[in-house]
Formats: sequence, C-alpha cells, structure tokens
Amino acid sequence: MDTDVLVVGGGPVGLMLAAELRTGGARVVVLERLKEPSGHSRAFRMQARMLDVLDQRGLLDRFTDGNRTWPKAHFAGLEPLLDFGHLRNEHPYALLIPQARTEQLLEEHTRALGVDIRRGHAVTAVEDTGDGVRCEVETDEGRHSLTASYLVGCDGGRSTVRKLAGIGFTGSDPTVSALLADVELADPSQLPNGVPGTMRTPHGLLMAISLQPGVTRILTTEFVPPDPATARSEVTLDELRATVRRISGLDVDMDRPRWLSRFTDTTRLADTYRSGRVLLAGDAAHVHFPIGAQGLNLGLQDAVNLGWKLAATVTGRAPDGLLDSYGAERRPVAERVLRETRVQLLLMSPDPKVDPLREVFSELLAMPEVNSRLAHEITGLDIRYQLPEGRYTHDLLGCPCPPLKPGPGDGVRALLRAGRGALLVPDTRPGVARAAEGHSGRVGTVPAGEGPGLLLRPDGHVAWVDPGDDTPADDVLADLTDALRRWFGDPAPTGTPRPPTSRNG
Ligand SMILES: Cc1cc2nc3c(=O)[nH]c(=O)nc-3n(C[C@H](O)[C@H](O)[C@H](O)COP(=O)(O)OP(=O)(O)OC[C@H]3O[C@@H](n4cnc5c(N)ncnc54)[C@H](O)[C@@H]3O)c2cc1C
Repeated sequence: MDTDVLVVGGGPVGLMLAAELRTGGARVVVLERLKEPSGHSRAFRMQARMLDVLDQRGLLDRFTDGNRTWPKAHFAGLEPLLDFGHLRNEHPYALLIPQARTEQLLEEHTRALGVDIRRGHAVTAVEDTGDGVRCEVETDEGRHSLTASYLVGCDGGRSTVRKLAGIGFTGSDPTVSALLADVELADPSQLPNGVPGTMRTPHGLLMAISLQPGVTRILTTEFVPPDPATARSEVTLDELRATVRRISGLDVDMDRPRWLSRFTDTTRLADTYRSGRVLLAGDAAHVHFPIGAQGLNLGLQDAVNLGWKLAATVTGRAPDGLLDSYGAERRPVAERVLRETRVQLLLMSPDPKVDPLREVFSELLAMPEVNSRLAHEITGLDIRYQLPEGRYTHDLLGCPCPPLKPGPGDGVRALLRAGRGALLVPDTRPGVARAAEGHSGRVGTVPAGEGPGLLLRPDGHVAWVDPGDDTPADDVLADLTDALRRWFGDPAPTGTPRPPTSRNG
C-alpha cells in the first residue's frame, strides 16, 4: 500500500480528519483538486462544542486570535435570541471566524503533524479491492493510481467518492433559490433593518452581515425552486440587484463584489457512511440549508469521531466493531440537524400562514428550558451517542466531557491532544487506575480529586462513568474493564504497557 488512508478533499473536514488520523499513528495522504485554497468563506461561525474540541487539540488560541466571540444566535430569525450564556460546556459562546481562516489554520496544523497534502490532485476513480482501495488521480502531469487500506471521501456535497462507491444520497430536492454576495454597499442605511439585519417580506428573505470594514455579506432567499436554465451559471451583480429588489422593493446601491455564489435547501443524507473500505465525512455525507451555522461544525465532528477509530483500525489496534460505530453514532446526529434546519426554513417562509406559528415559537423561545434545549441542539452540545450500556448507565454516557476544574482539565487535554483516552480517577476510588494499566499506551490516568470517575475516548466523549460510592468496587472495576476493552481493545500483558503505534510518512 502507498499509505494507510487516502483522504479525498482538502477542505476543512478532510484536513481535520487527516490531522486526527496522523495523531492516532496512521500514515495519511490528502488529495485535493484545487491547486490553491479558494480564499472564499461560506461558513463564519464556529459553534461551542467545536470550540471545546479545538481546545482539547491545543488549537483554540490560534482560532480565537483576532476573532470575535458572540454569546447569542437566532433561531429561524425569531426573537428572543438563543442565549449561549447557559451552555453546559467550557466555552459557552460562538466564535466568528471566516471559513478560509479555519482552513488555513487546519492546513498548518495538519502539515505540522507531517501529513502529505497534495494539491492539484483530483480523484476520478475508486475501486475497493477487498483488501484495500485503489484510486485514479488526475494532475497537470497526467494520471496515476494510488493504493491504501482505506479511503475517505471528504469531497463535499457533490462527492465523486460517494457516487463512485454507489452510496445513495436520499432526501429532498431544492425548494428555495438563494444567493450569497460579498459586496460594498454605497449606503448601508438603504437597508431598513440595518447591518446586521434580516427582512422577511412576502417575497422572501434578505439578510445583511458585516464581514469586514466596508464589505457586507448579502444573502437572499426566494421560496421558489432554482430555474434549471440558470442553476449552474455564474451569479452577476445585476442578478443580485434584481433579486434584492424583488424581495425588498428596494434599489440597494451595491458594487465591487468580492464573491457571488448560489445555494439551495437541497437536504440529503448518505444511506450509509461506510461501504467496505470507503467511508464518507462532512458535506459528502450530509447537506442541508445553511441556517444556524451547522454544516462545517457537523463535518468537523465527523472527522473527530472517525479519526481515532480509523487510525486504530489501520494500525491493528481496533477492537471488533469500532469502525462501524462511526456511522452508527454520527448518522443520527446528522439526521437531527437536517430535521432542525428544515424546521427553521419552514418558519422563515414568507407565507402568512406561518405567522401564527412564528408567534408561538417566539413565546416558546422566551421559556428558559426551550431556549436552552435549542441552544444545546444547534451548538452540537446535546449530542449523546447511544453507546452499548454496561452494568451501570448514567446520563453522561455518550455525552461530550463536562467542564472540568483546571487541574484535571489540563491533564485531560494533554492526553486527548496526543490521541489517547483519559481516565479520571477520583480520590475516593484510587483502585480504578489499576484497571487501565494494561491499556497505558492508549489511555492515561488523571487525578480527578473530588470530581467524578470518567473514561473519555480520544474524541472527548464519555465512555464510562463511576456510578458512585455506594456501588461495590469489584462491580465498578468490571464495568470499567468492559468499557476499556470495547473502545481500546484487549489489554497488553501485565508489565508490558503497549506504546502508541506511530508510523512515519
Ligand atoms: C452560505 C453558506 C454559509 C454557511 N455557513 C456556515 C457556518 O457559519 N457554520 C457552519 O458550520 N457551516 C456553514 N456552512 C456549511 C459549510 O460551508 C460546509 O458544511 C463545509 O464547507 C463542508 O466542508 P467539507 O470539507 O465537508 O466540504 P467542502 O468545504 O466542500 O470541501 C470539499 C473539498 O473537496 C475537494 N474536492 C472535491 N472533489 C474532489 C475530487 N474528486 N478530488 C479531490 N478533491 C476534491 C474540493 O475542492 C474541496 O476543497 C455554510 C454554507 C453556506 C453555503
């Protein structure tokens, strides 16, 4: 094999996945069609759950440097806003960061880990050979083929890999036509709701967001399916002006476009995230209307879920079923995001029949429990993977790690950054540390003080919880031993702690 894993697509999800795989000890090659990054930014918001993950990877300071944080977000353009101040996590806010900057930082991180990123390399064919994968690559110099144990399509919503692997993409066709334009406004006060601001009129939606001094992002949505004759054509400034006029009745003076693009509410989910040795992650696996700023965040968390599992698989350390838990855990998360973005778009429809529904939703959003539930949903903090239950179950099982005190928190971050699991050992039950001795290459222990006993997987999700002091120690240890085997495989024989496997290249 030329490498362990071929990652097709060097967008944000492909880059994040490559870094996670490399951290887990796999050899990785990223194949990216574009010779240079486009420099354009679709996404601008990084959600709270991803900020915790970036912190666990030692990357958060680089992402926050020079970028603003924001404590609220809208749901379907309604008031009151979702309040992030009550989120149950370490970084309870959103980070406003252009996607181009996210990609640049991820590429730096991935290259620093030694990943081979090949730009100007387009994948045109993929074959699962049973014991590996072969793919055809097209470059300016011609065609060549590459082999690997596994291949992951992170090649966006129109994924070539998904189509070549014959994986269905089930869902609904577009019902709305939307434009994105980064332009200069001669006079922002021409927009009655200002910048930032949203107009919902009987003809559609008009949103304006300030991107940088002098540059405004205009987003228009008309609730009619795209015209097939123009669906793939370049957007012109005249088309944008006419669309803004149709929606708002205003002649807004706009010029010097930096970027003009189309998008829709096509909503689709891959029928499976794995077919043999080919897997999917990010937009290649799920697409939806970009309301609530969730697609990129969803895809990055696919990468964080898949990376350690696939690395363990290709380095021969994975217990049975580990790789299949990727689709089993992540596909339901995407299903919920697709449902909730459909709800938001319905609520934003210009149809006056929706107005009473909007009023009811506004009243519901004023209720702290509802506001908090939706805030946790769109930030990805409500994720609870359905892990197989052990002898004891707990509300935290499958959830992201709860906020920790600085001492244990630092210990956990250091372990997760190295691609290892973390076992938090409470003062009251020092014996649990012994259960992890045979896994010491893959799981490190951290004194938890008075905090709860927790086992965290490398993706920061809780895989075991100490049920409490009144449970017999032997039962607790047996439960922990099962969880360690399920996620990290059989222990090494006593006295020979297994080092993490790492291959170069
Ligand atoms: C208007 C708008 C606003 C958005 N705002 C947000 C937001 O605020 N927050 C958020 O979370 N999400 C947002 N999103 C969604 C987000 O932009 C996407 O979910 C994200 O880009 C998906 O990343 P990806 O890496 O999966 O795919 P992509 O970003 O599409 O990257 C795929 C990569 O694969 C490469 N590629 C494709 N085919 C091949 C091939 N055959 N061989 C080699 N390389 C190939 C492409 O060149 C590309 O670099 C928004 C989307 C839109 C349209």
